[in-house]
Amino acid sequence: MSEFKLLINGELVPGALSMDVINPATEEVLASCPRADKNQLDQAVAAAKAAFPAWSATPIAERKKALLAIADVIEANAGDLARLLTQEQGKPIGDATMEVYGTAAFFRYFTSLDLPVKVIENSESRRVEAHRRPLGVIGAIVPWNFPLILMSFKLPPALLAGNTVVLKPAPTTPLTSLKLGELVRDILPAGVLNIITDANDLGAALTAHPDVRKISFTGSTATGAKVMAGAAGLLKRVTLELGGNDAGIVLDDVNPKETAPKLFASAFQNSGQVCIAMKRLYVHESIYDEMCDELAGIAEAAIVGDGLTQGTQYGPLQNKMQFDKVKELIEDSRQHGKVIAGGDTLDQPGFFIRPTIVRDITDGTRLVDEEQFGPVLPVIKFSTNDDAVARANASPYGLGGSVWSSSPERAYEIATKLESGTIWINKHADLAPNIPFGGSKLSGLGTELGEDGLNEFTQLKVINVAL
Ligand code: NAD
Repeated sequence: MSEFKLLINGELVPGALSMDVINPATEEVLASCPRADKNQLDQAVAAAKAAFPAWSATPIAERKKALLAIADVIEANAGDLARLLTQEQGKPIGDATMEVYGTAAFFRYFTSLDLPVKVIENSESRRVEAHRRPLGVIGAIVPWNFPLILMSFKLPPALLAGNTVVLKPAPTTPLTSLKLGELVRDILPAGVLNIITDANDLGAALTAHPDVRKISFTGSTATGAKVMAGAAGLLKRVTLELGGNDAGIVLDDVNPKETAPKLFASAFQNSGQVCIAMKRLYVHESIYDEMCDELAGIAEAAIVGDGLTQGTQYGPLQNKMQFDKVKELIEDSRQHGKVIAGGDTLDQPGFFIRPTIVRDITDGTRLVDEEQFGPVLPVIKFSTNDDAVARANASPYGLGGSVWSSSPERAYEIATKLESGTIWINKHADLAPNIPFGGSKLSGLGTELGEDGLNEFTQLKVINVAL
């Protein structure tokens, strides 16, 4: 495996410290990875600060060219990036390849946007304009489930708007981000993008750094709350994309055989390690038994293994902590429901848990109320649609949710009553770069993607002229 370096001020530099990155499919050391200390964090922020005046004054057309060049270089290196992503994150190589191409597509999408001056009023007495100015240095903090695509929710809009960035990937999945640093080093002027890694010990310092103007954070609700507190002293902007406990509500008019594969995919993609995975499934009592049987059949047939092995559909959990947490939730769920598929680990090294379906379980249990973030789905019976809506809304989270019905009108009516940032009908977790995405309640603050997502990397500035 090649050597990995931090990217600070346009230079690829070794870390002051180092750490091992583990392949979750083998539990073997994949690579030794540089790790920044506080001093290198300060250097990265200083470089970003120094690069800001020139980058923010660069015409937006030039900044777009840089984003397109980054998209090109990602695509040109898609094979290597995907393989590395599978090795550090665990996902099957086909999914990793899609994530890499998706990342390039997100960079491309943002080049279709502009930040024009908007004339709000042009009357006899005054001319009022709204300008969108860059903020300065952005701290971008990313979790371990989708290291590349979640980074691409942040970097392209931040850079397009004229900001400079310090990116910090998660400690267990830093390698693809560092590889990206190598690839884009010659595309961006020195200091415009800096990439540092840590052992979960620099996030707070990045958040509180006086020269960082905004934190764009994706991760857990608990850490998101710390980010908000850390940013409060200097009234920094924050965008927080946090945890979820998405409910899927399946009405009585659904064909279980046809719908079960879609529901299954919504819950188990990336072995359930998706912020907008379906995490609680409410099924009408009239089709409950049949749906449980269908889901269990799919789970039993699922191919679990090393993501690099051809045919693997579901890889391991990404890290030991998450593996232990999900095992514990499954054990707890045995007291409250019936495990009808999966429930076991693979008899080999690696953090593997077979896709697990738990039926006859209900609200008020850990598996239903908490975010499992793993390959286990509770299937809950309901009698009336109002009751299903009330139970879905009772969660403190509000990221996504979905309604499934053969009648779009019935589904739509229920969708209007659900309290989440996004509700899908007859699908789940459909994201695209042009569709704004954000959570309600404990699932976050602010919006990513689309024009709204771009605007969050800007300061609104009004120029009001007397005429
Ligand atoms: P996490 O909160 O533990 O870590 C996320 C990132 O925050 C990592 O880079 C970590 O090093 C960093 N961090 C740790 N302590 C910090 C601190 N005090 N200040 C600032 N940063 C700090 O989350 P995770 O376990 O890596 O990811 C899983 C969670 O992320 C799940 O809850 C999942 O739902 C959520 N998630 C949300 C979205 C979304 O878009 N809403 C997307 C993916 C994942």
